[in-house]
Amino acid sequence: MKNLIIITLDTFRRDHLTRQITPNLWKFSKMCDNFPNVFTTSPITMPAHVSLFTGHYPNRTGVRKNGCHYYDGRYPTLAEVLQDKNYYTHAIISSIILEKQFGLDRGFTTYDDDFNGKKRRKKWFGKRFWVRRAKETTDLALKAMRRHKYGPSFYWIHYFDCHIPYHRNYNNECRYMDEHLGRLLAKINLKKTIVIIVADHGEGLGEHKERYHGTKLFNTTVNVPLLIYPKINGRLDYSYSITDIMPTILSILDMKYPLHYDEENITFHEVINTRSIFIETLHKNPLYACIFKNIKYISNEKLYERWNDNLIVAGVDYKEIISEKQKQIKKYKENALPIIKINVDQVIVDRLKNLGYME
Ligand SMILES: [Zn+2]
Repeated sequence: MKNLIIITLDTFRRDHLTRQITPNLWKFSKMCDNFPNVFTTSPITMPAHVSLFTGHYPNRTGVRKNGCHYYDGRYPTLAEVLQDKNYYTHAIISSIILEKQFGLDRGFTTYDDDFNGKKRRKKWFGKRFWVRRAKETTDLALKAMRRHKYGPSFYWIHYFDCHIPYHRNYNNECRYMDEHLGRLLAKINLKKTIVIIVADHGEGLGEHKERYHGTKLFNTTVNVPLLIYPKINGRLDYSYSITDIMPTILSILDMKYPLHYDEENITFHEVINTRSIFIETLHKNPLYACIFKNIKYISNEKLYERWNDNLIVAGVDYKEIISEKQKQIKKYKENALPIIKINVDQVIVDRLKNLGYME
């Protein structure tokens, strides 16, 4: 049985995976399937990670915001599935947004979310941020891997360096993360391990009048990098959602697990030409997007080219497409399952406010 490592690079933009900015990741990507058209389900950390680890959109998981929605386990998580198959499961996370109180710890034997150490604070304009820096994240991952050498294991390693507040600037944080990511990649036994590297969302650096992420649905924040090692000969020409990652992993591991996938959940080998994929944000003003073939419709009634976010001037030809996409988004909203709200303690609320997630 092969080991599995999923590395999530919080807030890392796909176009920053370059030889200059992230040389270690760039080098590793040459050995992987590097999918160009993968979209997150939401440019918000917790909803995106829950989609990644369950294979469902946020309207079904009920986790649609950070810091107040709880994942109640209505669908099995990847960690639960693998734990059932006798995998040792271990998560190292680097931000309070994913703390175990929000429910994503289910299925993990070890869920390392201890942010109370003095070293773990990042200072910015006098405020303190409870995060783990890449050096510590990598050190902890290497330590855990040395300890559990026998039997199949699943690690989820989460890097948070590219998120605000930046030391100097965004590129500098990407470089710093890459340095420590490189130390991790160098130690992985690639003969025995499947490695998946993905971002939960990107980052607006001023394009489309957006800074940071979460308020708009342009490719700067919703088109995410996805690397799969070893290569699986997936379809690089087709659009996928991060909800397709879980069925792909289970297919690679040859696991037939009874999952209640949404009807159009597929693996990265498959193509359904009639399929649309969905993106949402409920962070401030709710927005929905629907990607179909070469078009991205955003619910402010605008059509964009999927590749580059160029606005398509919506003439008569597009009226039908717009009305069709509006119907699909309406259905997506109507299909929503209940949200479980939780009250987190004031300490966490204050820390989340510092990250810009709560009013
Ligand atoms: Zn995030």
